[in-house]
Amino acid sequence: MERSYVIKPELGKTYPVISHGKGIYLYDKEGKQYIDGCSGAVTALIGHAVDEVVDAMYEQAKSISFAYRSHFSSDAVEQLGKKLAEWAPGSLNWTFFVSSGSEATETAQKIAIQYWQEQGNFTKNRIISRWMSYHGITMGALSMSGHVLRRKRFVPLLEDYPAITGPYPYRKPEGLSLEEYGMQCANELETAILRVGPEQVAAFIAEPVIGATAGAVVPPPGYFQRIREICDKYNVLFIADEVMTGMGRTGKAFGIDHWGVVPDMITIGKGMSAGYTPMAATIVTEEIIEVIQKGSASIMAGHTYSANPQSAAVSLAVLNYIEKNNLIEKSAENGAYLLQRLQGLADELPLVGEARGLGMLCGLEFVKNKQTKETFALSENVSAKVIAKAFEKGLLVYPAVGGIDGVAGDSVILAPPITITQEEIDTLIGILKEAIEAVSQELQQKALIG
Ligand code: PMP
Repeated sequence: MERSYVIKPELGKTYPVISHGKGIYLYDKEGKQYIDGCSGAVTALIGHAVDEVVDAMYEQAKSISFAYRSHFSSDAVEQLGKKLAEWAPGSLNWTFFVSSGSEATETAQKIAIQYWQEQGNFTKNRIISRWMSYHGITMGALSMSGHVLRRKRFVPLLEDYPAITGPYPYRKPEGLSLEEYGMQCANELETAILRVGPEQVAAFIAEPVIGATAGAVVPPPGYFQRIREICDKYNVLFIADEVMTGMGRTGKAFGIDHWGVVPDMITIGKGMSAGYTPMAATIVTEEIIEVIQKGSASIMAGHTYSANPQSAAVSLAVLNYIEKNNLIEKSAENGAYLLQRLQGLADELPLVGEARGLGMLCGLEFVKNKQTKETFALSENVSAKVIAKAFEKGLLVYPAVGGIDGVAGDSVILAPPITITQEEIDTLIGILKEAIEAVSQELQQKALIG
């Protein structure tokens, strides 16, 4: 192997070189086949090498390489904006385009602060978020993320944003019904707003289904309805971070649609362009745009690649493909099948504490003891071990570490392209089971499990 000059996630480790992909499969240059069990980073929503998307990309690239948003709009971006307005609930009709999920959540943060400023309120500039949350890697996005492992080197970050507990049904206190627990968690927002002072809180941000920090944790019924009520009561904007859950991933257009709640902003990324180009966005309501239009009339955000025609054309082709092939319905239907098969693993394997998820966004949590739900020490790297073993066997699985209090807890995400068939899900489950069994044996040898 020639010397590499590329900074990789783990320095000193050698990574296989990707060659090509088709559908749910990826191939490295050695010819090894992998099932993309997590759509890369929950990104390749409709699978690899879809002709319609490739054609749209080529056609757009042939006509223009780049046009800056301060000079031009484009047909592609206008059509995409219109389609997103159709997909999004309520009056979430206006989209600000960026290139990554982190930029989308940072933009939402800025729009929230600007929205209050335009109305003469200069103190409402703090964002409340949740422990068990990931909203991005840039300093602003990380400041409102509860991902302790990623935060700790940079604390105090930009500002000490307050955080509340996220609902975690698997670990709810005994004696509370699921609904009561949901209310208790949601009411923490009210306590936090009152502690900080409503006059200082611009917005609350949450992932409808918790992704990277806990592995597809679905909130209890009623939770987001109560969150909406609290936000309305204290004039706090509600931002749904749908970077992972958006665009049909959970079996509805947006994750928050499962609870019929309309946020003030939705951030999207990842599946929006299904990995074909970097693309993300912040969708906002008519109300927010009216306020800003009456005020300074310009949103103080934007990047060089914001609203570039190339990414817009690709994203439009992805959304058209989803519509044409009824993929949101398929995500719901085959996602339920995936969850059922994962539940089978949870029933059978002592290492698996819980299988959970919504649509094609599922997770497994590994525990030391199924009865007590005791977690492994972080240093045991149990989810990393399962991921490595699955990779060896040709299956990609996504990590979700640190759910409980942001440090302990081992989960993985299973989120294949929503085009996956039930037969392919069966193959995926077979490999995953072998990988978990192999890790269980290793842990037994080290006497870490019974
Ligand atoms: N929000 C959520 C919910 C995410 O899952 C992620 C990425 N894992 C981000 C924001 C950040 O997106 P990006 O990595 O594209 O910056």
